[in-house]
Amino acid sequence: MRLLGASPRSWQEIEGIATQILRECCPERLVVPGRVNVLKIAQEYLPRAQGVLFAVGDTPPGIEAYVLFDTPLSPPRLVLSPKTYASLLEEGPRARFTTAHEIGHAVMHLADYRRLGNVLTRRMRLEPYRSAERQADVFASRLLMPTRAFLLAVREHGPDLGVLTDIFGTSLSTTRIRLRELGVLS
Ligand SMILES: [Zn+2]
Repeated sequence: MRLLGASPRSWQEIEGIATQILRECCPERLVVPGRVNVLKIAQEYLPRAQGVLFAVGDTPPGIEAYVLFDTPLSPPRLVLSPKTYASLLEEGPRARFTTAHEIGHAVMHLADYRRLGNVLTRRMRLEPYRSAERQADVFASRLLMPTRAFLLAVREHGPDLGVLTDIFGTSLSTTRIRLRELGVLS
């Protein structure tokens, strides 16, 4: 089987993309610990900067959200299931991460989607830096927990998962991974 992947990107490059979006949408979140408004990024930044529309609608069974790439008749869209959207409005950590992950696909992978079609959306065994899914996860974690603001919060509160998940609106697992990546937890 031929393995097809996204264009290779380093984690540093992906962090740069997330940082640029935060700089445009909510620069204070880069330096002041808090919850990034992912809905606002999806509804306002994506259409303006990427031409990706935001929609709430039916998704295939088991799919919480996805990016529908463009056809000659319609622009690309980020679609959230009604359940994911409702949870996002209540700032549910999973819905926040899912939405941030899809924003990552929308800003990084449209060209790859167009080139490869749906094959890209399947999870495949690839080197992590070529996996669209890994890239989107890394993007989501950098968008929701920007390095500087996150480290400031750690300095103030310690590696307290209860406090950090509350500040950033993130899940225990993604927050723990971020702490490990930054060398705070082993
Ligand atoms: Zn994905």
